[in-house]
Amino acid sequence: MRTEALAADEKRMKLAVVPSAGGPPLPSVAQENRFTCVYRQITAEQVCILTFDRPNSSANVFDRETLHELGDHLDFIADSTELKGVVLTSAKNSIFIAGADLHALAGASADDLASLIELGQSVFNRVASLNIPTVAAIHGACVGGGFEMCLACDSRVASPDRATKIGLPETQLGILPAWGGSTRLPRLIGLPRALDVILGGKTLAAKQALKYGMVDDLVPRERLVEFACRKIHTQGSELRRRHGFKLRAMNNRLFAIALSLRIESRLLKKTRAHYPAVFKALEVVTRGLSRPLAESLALEREAMLELAKTEECHNLIRIFFMQERARKRSYILGPTPAVAKPVDRTAVIGAGVMGAGIAQWLSSRGLPVILRDVNVEQVTKGMAGVAQLYHESVKRHLFTKLEARAGLDRIFPSAAEAPLRNVDLIIEAAVEKMDLKKKIFQELGELAGPNTVLATNTSALSVSEIAASTKSPERVVGIHFFNPVHRMQLVEVVVARQASSEAVQRAVRFVQQIGKLPVVVKDSPGFLVNRILMPYLIEAGHLFEAGASVEHLDEAMLDFGMPMGPLRLLDEVGVDVAHHVAEELELKFSDRMQTPRVLAQMLKAGLLGRKSERGFYLYNSKTPEVNSGLSLFQEKDWAKNFAREELQKRMVLLMVNEAARCLEEELVTEPSDVDFAMIMGTGFAPFRGGPLRHADSRGAEKVVGEMKRLVDSGGAYFAPFALLQRMADDGRRFYAEKGDR
Ligand code: NAD
Repeated sequence: MRTEALAADEKRMKLAVVPSAGGPPLPSVAQENRFTCVYRQITAEQVCILTFDRPNSSANVFDRETLHELGDHLDFIADSTELKGVVLTSAKNSIFIAGADLHALAGASADDLASLIELGQSVFNRVASLNIPTVAAIHGACVGGGFEMCLACDSRVASPDRATKIGLPETQLGILPAWGGSTRLPRLIGLPRALDVILGGKTLAAKQALKYGMVDDLVPRERLVEFACRKIHTQGSELRRRHGFKLRAMNNRLFAIALSLRIESRLLKKTRAHYPAVFKALEVVTRGLSRPLAESLALEREAMLELAKTEECHNLIRIFFMQERARKRSYILGPTPAVAKPVDRTAVIGAGVMGAGIAQWLSSRGLPVILRDVNVEQVTKGMAGVAQLYHESVKRHLFTKLEARAGLDRIFPSAAEAPLRNVDLIIEAAVEKMDLKKKIFQELGELAGPNTVLATNTSALSVSEIAASTKSPERVVGIHFFNPVHRMQLVEVVVARQASSEAVQRAVRFVQQIGKLPVVVKDSPGFLVNRILMPYLIEAGHLFEAGASVEHLDEAMLDFGMPMGPLRLLDEVGVDVAHHVAEELELKFSDRMQTPRVLAQMLKAGLLGRKSERGFYLYNSKTPEVNSGLSLFQEKDWAKNFAREELQKRMVLLMVNEAARCLEEELVTEPSDVDFAMIMGTGFAPFRGGPLRHADSRGAEKVVGEMKRLVDSGGAYFAPFALLQRMADDGRRFYAEKGDR
């Protein structure tokens, strides 16, 4: 390690050193070396401050270079006889250290990865073994490798800001904390809490991190470094004392085994054994706890190398990259890229479930919103919905009461005609009826200013047809939020036939501006997500009618890795909404989508799903129970004894087929758009990487073979689309290379 650090040092320019300051130190920025990410400063009291500040970036990350750089500073510190302590901090506004550079990690060969893990472990070991006290002064996101560095310090102090988030999210990426996190966290906060954080891949707010013992003090951002220095000055070697008896008792071997067994069975139930990283992390943390540090670190290394090879890990890391891309991606539709101005003022038409949800989200992001509905009663109902959403967010510590109040105050409820000339964007979320929407857009065309973008939140109606009702259809787009708005990150930006590039780009930028993830799709029935999801839900309905039980159907898809079964999902979406979308799609795709009769029957009987407390399940007790009364609608029995795998195949293959068709029709431009939208919009088993990635991993030939078998057994609607058939014939994949992202 030492040799590596020196070699790197020779290659690089001089380390950036900021001369000693007289008063309390503040992070300073040295300009001389563009490769420098860590700056050293020594206070008059002989405290060495290392400030992470990666150039041209809003985030700090740990790559090989940065680890070497930190190692070089540690050389200096270890050689000094004067220094009294070390403070590790960051100059960034919202990201302390975001962890390991995932790009470097994802592209690494097994040997490279092994050496990168060893490098991180050895550098952090050196932080831990300095013979002067070390304090991490944390402001902003401190996750993964960033927090593992802090765990190697003697103490951690953090700002209470909303930006400060602390944790180890690795298992969500299919890996585990392997730079000492799986070893040091249980030794710091005890096994149960450490497992809670590591297995849940949790990132905690500062206050919660304090409660967990992950940080020792909360101090305002402006005083963080000064406080850390004072801590070193006043507590000195006290800071380096070991942890107490209570923790040691909690971390004993027998306790670890018992806890591990209990948690393992819970995990199996929750993950259905699909996420190897959580099981591996459980094993490493509980086994490593009773071993010497070096052995526990070796367990981390081995586990990481094993996990990094898995398909699950590759797919989960890909999702992370796709999210990152969606946050920044720009779409240029015409010959010239337009400069998309940010949206400052908004209006929402319709204060129902979606309108209220959208208004709440926009106002919580600092945007003023005019919320309009047909009468005072409807507007009042909508505002009550917004207030309820804020109330729940305060309870979940997402906002303070003051912030919630300010958010509510940014909404201007209106039952009369509101002034819309100076509004940048209007989102219509009124009842799903074409005539009504056309009338509203005709009116909006008159009332809005010349630069206002007009958007509809329709789930299934033609945006181009709606646009045609206004005098300037080029500024009409679809901005399709998913329900519930505050939970669902994906938003489909629908490009109507007449839409200008400016309007689309502004809509995309707006979605990014409010912290959601856009996917741009062509205007077509059901757009992208509902178009692919509906054949799956429709098939679930047909299978139910043909005798498959509610439990059997839902369990089959939970086993596949969906977050909820299809019939439960129908209840959540609302049987009325699902019926309407299915009917719209049937109009266009009657060759392969026929609304199951059970939906109309349920609608007639008032069984609308969760909203009416009765659907495929009954919701009047704490845990929903299957509605056995529905067996009345099961008129056939050919699917009664289908095996779980058969049910899965029928439902999943229809999604794969429709996804291929959407790609062929160029609803989106890339296979990853389809997969990303399905994972973010429906929760499609993330570890499988989306329907197209799933088809690739099975192989087109096999997929097409299975479809043909189903056609032969009487299901003409399983006929594979041309693209899939060609791929099977030519042995091609949706993603060009095996490792392609
Ligand atoms: P909703 O029935 O809860 O609310 C519709 C609201 O529109 C009502 O408050 C109604 O009074 C109001 N309204 C009717 N005519 C109006 C007019 N002329 N001007 C202003 N307001 C008017 O419906 P919702 O579930 O909120 O759906 C709204 C839109 O969002 C629909 O187009 C729907 O397809 C779409 N959508 C719904 C969901 C969902 O899951 N509910 C998801 C995505 C998109």
